[in-house]
Amino acid sequence: MYLKGIEIKGFKSFLDKTSITFPKGMISIVGPNGSGKSNILDAIRWVLGEQSIKSLRGDKLEDVIFSGTQTRNALGYCEVTLILDNEDKKVDIDYTELSIKRKAYRSGESQFFINGKKCRLKDIKEILLDTGIGKEGYSIISQGRVDEIINSTGNQKRALLEEASGITKYRYKKEEGEKN
Ligand code: ATP
Ligand code: MG
Repeated sequence: MYLKGIEIKGFKSFLDKTSITFPKGMISIVGPNGSGKSNILDAIRWVLGEQSIKSLRGDKLEDVIFSGTQTRNALGYCEVTLILDNEDKKVDIDYTELSIKRKAYRSGESQFFINGKKCRLKDIKEILLDTGIGKEGYSIISQGRVDEIINSTGNQKRALLEEASGITKYRYKKEEGEKN
């Protein structure tokens, strides 16, 4: 499973619909300061359910929505869709592609979708368990995260190893079962 592409509309500096396709393998995003490179990573973390505004480099919820310029009006909502390749059936669904979308309005309401069907954030979290892609996964290593991993406690290191080895799903199911 790998990230095939992303579609961004109204998220931060991406006011117009922007589609980016990522080839398999190593990619680099280059561009001048302030051109929106980090905003792409923010968009990826946001779709995956990032709720911490501070970690998305904003002060309030609506800071992720395009706030307007001298010539363009602010937008009322934003949406981001991640397109993941599922040829290897890492996620147990009938489709060879998995799309995950989040849409949010200035009111603060967020909607989530899996392959176009409305769902809960919990469903996204569950479908991505053991892929390493979730918000808590290791697919995005931000500045300072390497230090954080080195200095983490035994339990935190174990959680990372469990995700990599594919057993998080079973621990999650067991814990969910114990709640009921
Ligand atoms: P650097 O090389 O300095 O790290 P970068 O390419 O990572 O730059 P970003 O941080 O992704 O740049 O983009 C910053 C730009 O995004 C700024 O110009 C900022 O005004 C713009 N921006 C952030 N939030 C919004 C928003 N809600 N509406 C419009 N523009 C926004
Ligand atoms: Mg940056």
